[in-house]
Formats: sequence, C-alpha cells, structure tokens
Amino acid sequence: MNTRSDCIALDAQDPLRELRNLFTLPEGVNYLDGNSLGVLPRATAARVAQVVQQEWGEGLIRSWNTAGWMAQPQRVGNKIARLIGAGEGEVVAADSTSINLYKVLAAALRIAQADAPNRKVIVSERSNFPTDLYIAQSLAAQHGCTLELISADEVAPRLARGDVAVLMLTQVNYRSGRMFDMAAITAQAHAAGTLTVWDLAHSAGAVPVDLRGAKADFAIGCGYKYLNGGPGAPAFVWVHPRHTERFWQPLSGWIGHANPFSFDTAYQPAAGIGRYLCGTPAVIAMAALECGVDTLLAAEPLGGMAALRAKSLALTTLFIAQVRERLADHPLTLASPEDPALRGSQVSLACPEGGYAVMQALIARGVIGDFRAGDGSTEPDLLRFGFTPLYTQFVDVYDAVTALDDVLTSGEWREARFNQKAAVT
Ligand SMILES: *Cc1c(COP(=O)(O)O)cnc(C)c1O
Repeated sequence: MNTRSDCIALDAQDPLRELRNLFTLPEGVNYLDGNSLGVLPRATAARVAQVVQQEWGEGLIRSWNTAGWMAQPQRVGNKIARLIGAGEGEVVAADSTSINLYKVLAAALRIAQADAPNRKVIVSERSNFPTDLYIAQSLAAQHGCTLELISADEVAPRLARGDVAVLMLTQVNYRSGRMFDMAAITAQAHAAGTLTVWDLAHSAGAVPVDLRGAKADFAIGCGYKYLNGGPGAPAFVWVHPRHTERFWQPLSGWIGHANPFSFDTAYQPAAGIGRYLCGTPAVIAMAALECGVDTLLAAEPLGGMAALRAKSLALTTLFIAQVRERLADHPLTLASPEDPALRGSQVSLACPEGGYAVMQALIARGVIGDFRAGDGSTEPDLLRFGFTPLYTQFVDVYDAVTALDDVLTSGEWREARFNQKAAVT
C-alpha cells in the first residue's frame, strides 16, 4: 500500500509536475472538480485585463481588425483541434455545448433524412447528460423522429437492427466516467448506416481523442471543464469535412455567412466549419478560453495528451486502490470502471446514505469534489472526483482519501449545516 510519503515521492518523479505552476490554486484547497469547472490558469487574469483595457478600452471598434477578434473562433478552434485529433480549419469555438449540439444534431438529421429517409430514430444513452437529451427531444419532435434511450451495453445490438439515423453519445459518461471506444462504435454505426454525434465534454483535454482516426461524423465539447476556459466559456464544434458543406446548420446567423459584412438579405453559408458560427464571438470569454487551452498545449513538449492520460490513469488507479485499502469499513462502492481502458479522468463512488452531506463535509475540509444524485432506483447517489493531470498531485489523492475517512468515521456529515441543499450541487 502506498503511504503518504510514497505519494510525495511519486510527485517528485512526475515528469508533468511543473505544469501545476501554470495555475493559481487557492491555499488549502484540494481541488478534484476540474471535470465540472477547471482551475484558473495564471495567464488568464492578465490576458483578460489586456483585452478589456487595451483592446476594448483603447482600441474600441478598431480591435475587430487590429486585435484579431473576428478570427478568434477559428484561432482557438485550431488549438482545440490539436487536442482532439481534428485537422486545421475543422473546429470553431463558439456558443455553448447545448447550442452546438443543436447545430450538429440538426445537420446530422438532415443528412440522414436525405440519404436514408426511412430512418427515424435517434439513439442515446439513458444516463447521458440531461441537456443532451433535452436538445435531442426538441430536434426529434421537429424532424418527426423518436429518441430512444438505452444502456451502454445495448449500443451495438441496437445499431445492428439497421434503423438508427443518428447515434448521439457522450464519450465519457458524466456520472460513471465510463468511456466508449469511439473508433469501434463509430465503425459499428457506419456499418449499420448510422451517423455519429460525439459529445466530448468529459474527454477533450481529459483523454486522447482522435476524431479523424475514428472517422467520427460530428463532435462538440465544453470549454469550462478540462479546457480550463472559465465559467460559461465558449464551447467548440467539429464536423468531418465530408459533411461540412452538405447542409446549413439551422442557426444561420450572420457570422456564419459567407460574407457577413456584405449585409446581404439572403443567407449564404460560409465555406467550411465557419458556417457553424452564428453570432458575434464572446471576445472576453474567448480570450480566457484560449489561455485555458494553452495550458494543455503546454504539455505537448512533455508528451501531450498521451502523457496526461498516463498520469490521469495513475491518479485514478491510486485513488481506487486507496479507497479499497483504507475505506473498506465504509459503505462506499466503486461506480466507475475497474478497467483503466474504459475509465475517463474521474472516479465516482456510490454512497448509499447522505452522499450530498458527505460531499459538503469534505468540501468544508478543503477537498472539493461534487455530488450527483441518483434516480432512486438503478442509478445510485454519487460522490464524483475529477483528476486533472495538469495540476492534481498524487499526494492530493492520498489526502482526499484521508479526509473522506475522517468525514465518514466521525459522522460529522450528519450535522445540519452539511445537509442544507444549495442551488448548485
Ligand atoms: C457539461 C456538459 C454539458 C454542458 O452544456 P452547457 O451548454 O455548457 O451548459 C453538455 N453536455 C455534457 C455531456 C456535459 O458534461
């Protein structure tokens, strides 16, 4: 069993340890929630101040040209492309994950309806993130389709029935951290004549993604989780070049027009991924997102996403082992895959009693994870811990398990102050 000093030794040998200095981590905080909101990069505050004071304050309207504001969606998109196996000019940063999902799912349905008009089914995972399901419900109604929800194990047999228009999956499940094999499932989908839409909210910046290698069709992802772009950061969208110009996406705003400043009355979509833009870029937020993405690109000389993945698996494997060895007397069970190949960058523990309060008590001790309620039947209440290899240390894993042991052994989570529900869990 690893002792605390073993963990300190692991940190000293960690080839990625310097990357932690790119972040401002508050004193006394053991942050294991980068899967919900990434940590503030050191560069962000000064960069945002520069955008506000110089580019906006001094440059005013001129900065659209002189500060490259209009090129931001593509510039930041090209940086994100390097993290997800996409090509140059194939990704734009814009809007929210929910809105980008609306665009790509609508485009996928249009292609499916043109190529295979009899297919009327969108398939997704029952425990997919709710916004994905809500957007799919809306589009299913508009396109005369049905949304079918299945479990992860049912995907292959469901595809094999040959009537699915679009398979919409989140690669890494937000609850369990279970990861789909994107290449294998995309191949199964294509063999069955089905298009794939992948949500990379919990995979971009967390695990190596190879969209081109997997021959995926559409993908979207989140800017404020592992990309460290800040609360409400712009999201991103990728479309395989074989599909990009087949149709418009439905949110045909002027920034996605071929020539926005012609002020034409008629919409003409831009060539390439530019047509997936809608309105004016969120310049200040985009500057913060770029700083976040740059923290991941800083790992490129150290081995990039492959090196981050190796450390992430070492962290999650250590956490699972520590929970097994040191928390065996407590009623916690592993709710994430045992097999590292199936695990994203988080570990969830099913907590049968008082999960919300246990997490509140942990947070009071400076260990920040989060709580996700179950459905009262098949899905358990979860304590979620995200392990972000850019800044999480092995000793943080050890200390988090100590704090969890203390919270459960003392029973302090039963105190009323830990049982008052806040609006955001
Ligand atoms: C976090 C997350 C989102 C977030 O969507 P927003 O539009 O940014 O609120 C969407 N989908 C999944 C799977 C997520 O994990």
